[in-house]
Amino acid sequence: MSVEAGDKTCDILISNGLVFDGTGAPGVRIDVAIQNDRIVGLGALKDWVAREKINAQGMAVAPGFIDAHTHDDLALIEHPEMRYKVCQGVSTVVVGNCGLSPAPIGPRQEDVAPFTIFRGGKTPSLDSPRYPNFASYLNDIKLAQPWVHAVTLVGHLTCRAAVMDRFDRAANNEEICAMQALVDEAMTAGADGFSTGLAYPPGLAAPIEEVIALAEVAGRHKGIYCTHMRDEGLGLLGSIDETLTVGKLAKIPVVISHHKCSGRASWGLSKQSLLKIDSAARDQLYPVHLDVYPYTASSTGLMADWIDDADRIIITGSEPHPELAGLDLADIADDWECTLIEAIERLHPARAIYFKMDEADLERILAHPLCMIGSDGLPGDSHPHPRLWGTFPRILGRYVRERKIIDLATAVHKMTGLTAKVFGLSGRGVLAVGNCADVVIFDPDTVIDKATYEKPKSLPVGIKKVIIGGQIRIDG
Ligand SMILES: [Zn+2]
Repeated sequence: MSVEAGDKTCDILISNGLVFDGTGAPGVRIDVAIQNDRIVGLGALKDWVAREKINAQGMAVAPGFIDAHTHDDLALIEHPEMRYKVCQGVSTVVVGNCGLSPAPIGPRQEDVAPFTIFRGGKTPSLDSPRYPNFASYLNDIKLAQPWVHAVTLVGHLTCRAAVMDRFDRAANNEEICAMQALVDEAMTAGADGFSTGLAYPPGLAAPIEEVIALAEVAGRHKGIYCTHMRDEGLGLLGSIDETLTVGKLAKIPVVISHHKCSGRASWGLSKQSLLKIDSAARDQLYPVHLDVYPYTASSTGLMADWIDDADRIIITGSEPHPELAGLDLADIADDWECTLIEAIERLHPARAIYFKMDEADLERILAHPLCMIGSDGLPGDSHPHPRLWGTFPRILGRYVRERKIIDLATAVHKMTGLTAKVFGLSGRGVLAVGNCADVVIFDPDTVIDKATYEKPKSLPVGIKKVIIGGQIRIDG
């Protein structure tokens, strides 16, 4: 049923709330009308007739949040209700990050540690879905009808695994051509961009020329390039330069994923990294953005090379020892009376949380005008990093209300309008007549994350209603 101009009826009318439209503009007290899956009215709509009226007195009303960086690739299909995201107000997720996408899958994929990221360290079973091409993956998402909308990237490591016999070298010309064809297939099928994970062993040996050759293909399809950079520690500034060069030479917009300064020796480098990003944003023809999660600990595979500069390491999952998820690596090694390295070998394949960052860098990065919010949550872990369940309410509660690092309109923009613009999502991220009816209603005075390193799967508080495509998914 469509709504004629001047027809003052709707399915849902949200009244009396302070509406943040996602553009970064301050909140205004207006009403929002929803019909089917669209926003059909904004303004003083007191005389409208609605099937359902929501009184949002004292509440903030915003576009559904867009998670700029996720690993929800298979969760979209296996758990289409996406509870840990929808409970935070998230209505769109970007998947395929860090060079890892579930398609196009190659024969060696199971051997490569980072690919278990989607399954919490578990090797895929033989009956796991295998996507020989990107079109088949996109089709499965469509069939699963996930509650959230998905933006998809095709991963460099996935392409490498599909065409190369070993990863400790650059791809040769023939392999580059084969990978270009895979990126082209993905983009033609509907992928939104290309990602790299150059810090991971299967990507480390890839030279910039290889990355440019593949990013160019995504650029020709008007895609975006998102990168987990080669070095987020002492070599951070060199990695920023490399990333900006890829954008320039491949003629593609760039997103620096989960920007951070990892390891004490690199703390403070964000001052310079952000200046580099600023000058590139001024000079470059192709846009540059970044995303961040609001925590000073990272989480990924458990690797001996990465433990040295961590203050603390928590195991989030281990295939041989699932019962140890949630424990500190140091305690496990104590208990086993062995070294940390020996413990890592016995836990392998495993995943972990690494405490390596400084709050000052995090707050500086978060406040940067080009920075979006991305959780980087890992849904497969049995004891996940709390960012999976807490990122968005934590920004609103801790960094807006308590720490006052950014104001509410800016925070909403970083979770909605900015992200929609960066990823070219038309009709989302901004509350406007004709746009998708993705709306979050939250209490700005109480909203906060409850997920902790000890109890990571805890629901946030203060997210009152989440409407996605006109459907009320959270009704608190
Ligand atoms: Zn990453």
